[in-house]
Amino acid sequence: MQRTYYIATMGCQMNEYDSEYVGRCLRQARYFPVEDPGKADLILINTCAVRAKAEQKAFSLLGRMISLKRRRPGVILGIMGCLAQNRGGSLLERYPELDLVLGPREIGRFGEVLGRLETGKSRVEATTMRKSTLIPVFYKDFFKGRVKGFITVMEGCNNFCTYCIVPYVRGREVSRPPEDILKEAEYLVAEGIKEITLLGQNVNSYMYKHDQSIRFSDLLRMLNETEGLQRIRFTTSHPKDLSDDLVQCFADCPKLCSHIHLPFQSGSNRVLKAMNRGYTRETYMDLIPKLRRVRSEMALTSDVMVGFPGETREDFEATLDLIAKVEFDGLYSFNYSDREGTRADDFKDKIPEEEKLNRLSELQQLQRSITLSKNRAMIGKETEILVEGPSKKGGHLRGRTSTNKIVNFQGDSTKIGKLIKVVIKRAHANSLGGEEAR
Ligand code: SF4
Repeated sequence: MQRTYYIATMGCQMNEYDSEYVGRCLRQARYFPVEDPGKADLILINTCAVRAKAEQKAFSLLGRMISLKRRRPGVILGIMGCLAQNRGGSLLERYPELDLVLGPREIGRFGEVLGRLETGKSRVEATTMRKSTLIPVFYKDFFKGRVKGFITVMEGCNNFCTYCIVPYVRGREVSRPPEDILKEAEYLVAEGIKEITLLGQNVNSYMYKHDQSIRFSDLLRMLNETEGLQRIRFTTSHPKDLSDDLVQCFADCPKLCSHIHLPFQSGSNRVLKAMNRGYTRETYMDLIPKLRRVRSEMALTSDVMVGFPGETREDFEATLDLIAKVEFDGLYSFNYSDREGTRADDFKDKIPEEEKLNRLSELQQLQRSITLSKNRAMIGKETEILVEGPSKKGGHLRGRTSTNKIVNFQGDSTKIGKLIKVVIKRAHANSLGGEEAR
């Protein structure tokens, strides 16, 4: 009898990778994916706990999946990801319908766990912080038709920013062996993948120590030699770990895309210190010309947080000033929210919600105008894009520049997976419109 599975993935790209990893294990165990959870024999919710809102969304989805299971009691229902790690066995106590609680460090054990679940005799909590890394799983045709893929190269974080829950739920940093990463890259290329994004909570602190030490820059240079691979990206980088050697990779590795996501979080040294970020506004600003020197077209995106406890109007203006000076291509901006178990949760001088919302909207308005003027500056220019698939606009295709900007254009599906040249004709806040260059 054919068994089916459905995985709902919330949160970051690392969760997407984890869901795909578990998906590959399930295909090996002869489960088939379905788009409708109502038709699945096994349902997994891969959760995020970084922000309070993400946690609320996960609980609401869990409620809906529990209703499905009540109608079909034979279904195996599991929760994985950061929320699973954070709440652990208490979830099994609170929700009798739940069969599995799987932490992010345990997904390598999924095959073994599945065997136990299938007997129907036990419910499983697997939430230890194992130090071992993932064994690659190669399931043929899993990525068929896809252009872009991910590889998690390191997990966990040692930084303990005072607002962040990640070190508590994803554990300390562990880097995967480079040979496993290279094999996984070759597998993805054989599947038809043209662009690989290397993932890690703190990807540029990658360091694998065995007979010799392999740094992140060494790994990038090795991957750049992978035959058939067209593009390499990585995320998320920590400013304090952006070494000169890594910057040099942008000059030496042609497959490395001209984009870096480099969270700065605040433009005020006082707030950065309270956040325990490990760098100052000045050291962050020093990195920008270095990056633009090696690649003049380098696109920069970042994360910024508004309303951290004790943030004054002056601190906030220092943030606006940094944004105006750097001229980011795009920003992910958030209001600070308390996370239980973090140091900032106990900080005094919390900023009222209304003030946080006002500051966020002021900041977003500034960034919108910068993004738009940068996008408008591309009008009339010819640029290379990797064609990813159909665009959300009917009849159009969607591609991406090396600088990570989306370009919609009219074209036929034979172009998907190819690098082509387009001329930019229109600029919007979140995308560009183009025509194939003749
Ligand atoms: S670097 Fe800071 S914000 Fe990023 S995952 Fe680590 S603790 Fe969290």
